[in-house]
Amino acid sequence: MPATTKLPAHAVPGMPRGYRLIGTEKTDGLIRYEAEYTVLPTKCKCGGAVKLFGTRKRIVGDIPRKDAKVEILLNVKRFKCQRSGQTFSQELPEIHTDHGITRRFFLHVGQGCFKRTFQEMAMESGLEDTTVRLIFHRYLKDVEAWVRIPDPLALALFSVKVFRRPATALIDAHALAIVDLVEDTTQNARTRTTDAGLAPRLERAGAAQTVGIGFDARHRELVRALLPKAVVYVDQFFVMAMADDALEQVRRATRKDLSIYLKRKLAHDAETFAKEREHLHEQEVELLEYIFGTYPGLSDAYEAREAFREAYRGKKAAEEAFGLMTAALAGLSGKTKPFFKSLQVALKTFGPEVRAFFEVEAQDFTLARVPELKKLEEWIAAVPERGHVFEAARASLLLPAGMPARSFLSRGASLARLRSNSYKAPEV
Ligand SMILES: [Zn+2]
Repeated sequence: MPATTKLPAHAVPGMPRGYRLIGTEKTDGLIRYEAEYTVLPTKCKCGGAVKLFGTRKRIVGDIPRKDAKVEILLNVKRFKCQRSGQTFSQELPEIHTDHGITRRFFLHVGQGCFKRTFQEMAMESGLEDTTVRLIFHRYLKDVEAWVRIPDPLALALFSVKVFRRPATALIDAHALAIVDLVEDTTQNARTRTTDAGLAPRLERAGAAQTVGIGFDARHRELVRALLPKAVVYVDQFFVMAMADDALEQVRRATRKDLSIYLKRKLAHDAETFAKEREHLHEQEVELLEYIFGTYPGLSDAYEAREAFREAYRGKKAAEEAFGLMTAALAGLSGKTKPFFKSLQVALKTFGPEVRAFFEVEAQDFTLARVPELKKLEEWIAAVPERGHVFEAARASLLLPAGMPARSFLSRGASLARLRSNSYKAPEV
């Protein structure tokens, strides 16, 4: 029994009332409805009277049912304006005329691409791969048009890899939220869209008064060139990450030659080193004293890292803070020095930007407020998305899951939310 007998004879399943069903044709693997849209224009856009000019047949794809492809053969009426002489077709609501499919099919394919690859989606929908790709990009553009994420006053740039390809997260440093994610096009010739990449994105970030960066020369050059009014600084987060890393390297180098007995004794040294000094309890202080007495190199490294921490405490003047850092590096013993070499080079190369942090009082909006930010890449990767397409990952991060009903204001993807999401058990 054909499925259509259950439906009112005049309706095309799933379409608005105005679509009058003329006939249904079912062949192997294909359902074709012939229909017309009964609401006709009475006037031209210019206000002129219109006259029927003819009918044109048009095939529109709809969501497949089981294994059958669904098509709607539309008799589209054409009109001629009596004033301007222009001809036009009647409006067809719920039809995506650009792609020749129904709007619900358009949404189905667009949303499906978050969970399936383009190939899978093409198989499922009976469309070509390239068509699926085009629909998806159009879908994202449509969703994005409804969402407004304000440009941050305090911008921060954070390098991440998405599907192993380099990208930059644009962060609102006040709100601690990602406001955009852009692929690094200089290393990705595959991306054909000309308006992608960090440079054009920064051009649109003109509201930024300050831009926090890591030790990244390309970021610095781009910001200087494209946001000349903004103050660019190296964020505390990146300086401390390097100082912590140098200490960690010294710790590992020291550990390498220890006996098993000593390794056990020092089992929690890494955590102890990471803690704030004033939060250490008695046992930990004793442990540190023991380690430092035995391994002066490690003591050196720890004190240097502590000096960097001290530089960022309170609101020091730029020169005082920078002086603490350079003095700490100068005071290192010969054996420990090489481990801090890259930090030393970074301070030299980015001296003005490291100082600028204190000048703009970026302590108030530093990324170091989220110490776990090192895991940003993992947090982004934990956002569910299976198509492995950059645009899908970006949309999953920044855009609503479905097509919004009205435009709205978003602050972007909150880092706190991303952090808690990534701790959820993986989907089974
Ligand atoms: Zn007209």
